[in-house]
Amino acid sequence: MASERGAPVAAHADDALIPGAYITDEAMQAVLERQCHRCAGCNAPLSAESTHFDLRQPVIRGGPHTLGNFEALCPFCHRNHMRRIREQFAGMTGHRNK
Ligand SMILES: [Zn+2]
Repeated sequence: MASERGAPVAAHADDALIPGAYITDEAMQAVLERQCHRCAGCNAPLSAESTHFDLRQPVIRGGPHTLGNFEALCPFCHRNHMRRIREQFAGMTGHRNK
């Protein structure tokens, strides 16, 4: 466990904890604007009905539930992202991030 963040300090919007289980409309807009409405994976332009929001680092793997950890993906990259996470789970022996 590498949870060395101390007390939650909301200095940056990206560090703002998103309350609840999922992402709010406001947070979605912020993420989209940060990414210039493009997919974080392949840079394809995102349209409202084909955008998937996901945590870059899943909470279950120690990722924070914050704006900065969210990313917007196109359906294709989202599927790849899910697959990668599943593979990480399958081979979860050690933890080296970055
Ligand atoms: Zn993509």
